[in-house]
Amino acid sequence: MGTIYVIEDEINIRDLIKIALEGFGYQVSAWESAEEALEAIKEKVPDLMIFDRMLPGMDGVTAIQQIRSGDLCPKVPIMILTAKDKEIDKVCGLDGGADDYMTKPFGILELAARVRSLLRRSSGESESEKDIVTIGRLEWNFRTREVWFDKKLLELTYKEYELLQYLWKHQDRVVSREELLDSVWGYEYDGETRTLDIHVRTLRQKLGESGQEYIKTIRGVGYRFVGGKTENKVSSIPELMSQ
Ligand code: CA
Repeated sequence: MGTIYVIEDEINIRDLIKIALEGFGYQVSAWESAEEALEAIKEKVPDLMIFDRMLPGMDGVTAIQQIRSGDLCPKVPIMILTAKDKEIDKVCGLDGGADDYMTKPFGILELAARVRSLLRRSSGESESEKDIVTIGRLEWNFRTREVWFDKKLLELTYKEYELLQYLWKHQDRVVSREELLDSVWGYEYDGETRTLDIHVRTLRQKLGESGQEYIKTIRGVGYRFVGGKTENKVSSIPELMSQ
């Protein structure tokens, strides 16, 4: 099922999350500080992490940034919990490298659904796929979820990778914002398309000068990947599109 690390300083919420997710079959370890969790991943890397934003000592966003820039598990799916529902806080959380967030108070069923969605996406690759595909100046390894641009490895977050892959798979057409939110985030976002725009922006920045060319904004509709032709291993594309 998967190992989940929970970092939450409020003992009631921590216990609730732990017991609930264990009830869904996950192995859950929980701590009250980010420092303890950062020590724990040196022993065992989890399949998913849930960070409270406000913690004693190191806060959740800082901890996530450390994980993203570290070597142990930079791509582990991470959800952030926040007591504040102002958009700026959500933006901070996502820019800091979290893949998803929930605002307290939240329902345990919704939490479980989002956990399932994040885990499913991070383990979604099938064995039959070709490992490396070159598309224009982009090179993909679908097994390891790594993407190179001009032979340089891109440091993509979990969601940025999902977004890029989805746009690439559907490059024959424009993909609407709603479809992207639905497919990449996997649940209704209550029209918060700014989250999507932020991810597209950081993705373009990571692609460098060519980012604008590769991910085209279709005004009033959405985005389209126009990254160029597949140069080899064309045969693997239908497999991926039917995924
Ligand atoms: Ca807290």
